[in-house]
Amino acid sequence: MGAPIAKYRDVHKSFGEVEVLKGIDLDIGPSEKVALIGPSGSGKTTIIRLLMTLEDPTSGTIEVNGKNLWHMESKNGLVPANEKYLREVRGDIGMVFQHFNLFPHMTILENCMTAPIHVKKERKETAKKRSLEMLEKVGLGDKVDLYPNQLSGGQKQRVAMARALVMKPKIMLFDEVTSALDPELVGEVLEVIRDIAKEGEMAMVLVTHEMDFALDIADRVLFLNDGVIEADGPPSEIIENPESERLQDFLSRFT
Ligand code: ADP
Repeated sequence: MGAPIAKYRDVHKSFGEVEVLKGIDLDIGPSEKVALIGPSGSGKTTIIRLLMTLEDPTSGTIEVNGKNLWHMESKNGLVPANEKYLREVRGDIGMVFQHFNLFPHMTILENCMTAPIHVKKERKETAKKRSLEMLEKVGLGDKVDLYPNQLSGGQKQRVAMARALVMKPKIMLFDEVTSALDPELVGEVLEVIRDIAKEGEMAMVLVTHEMDFALDIADRVLFLNDGVIEADGPPSEIIENPESERLQDFLSRFT
């Protein structure tokens, strides 16, 4: 694999007294598709929130595309990152959340256009063109002037994906994006993720409880347990032939 797009080194994270990540070392390759599985509370969401700079590590370092997330080079050596630097680093990272997080007062098209215009300072016409392309890609080309509350949960989640894709991230993070959806809407969202994955280029990290889906699209599966990566390998190994009893026990809940 080429130079990693994301690199964790001995990352620890505590909330108060509770240590939820206990030393994470992880390299994610430039176009790798990684599924993150593990029991509730094992630290999966925290791992990806750290990458999105929504949390800072208690100790250890994380780099995205060769840039340290919280510190930048200056003539005095490494200093705490300023907003401008963080904005630049975040430009490489897209995230889709469980609860969509769309702006309710903006149309679907405006939801997609706002970050390219305000964060990347792109021209409105450029942002509009790409937003329309991405909305088409997620199958919502005919809904662009509607507002989020006029859409189903599955459609909202597809808008959230288009909105992230418009920013051309190098790595995209998906945090249990189907778990707030009615069961009949899960398929359409997974289908869009599958399409994005097949295109290849971008790295993807998915926190998921959909084991069949992980088996289908992931190159690599990480099993997180109690703040530690306990198993790391191809899906054929981790999901289909799990070695440890704890992993077998965890997977047995999904069959
Ligand atoms: P998972 O995604 O595997 O369910 P999380 O990363 O969401 O696990 O959470 C790991 C642990 O950290 C949980 O016990 C959770 O309650 C705790 N936690 C997560 N975020 C916070 C927070 N902001 N403040 C306090 N505790 C938190």
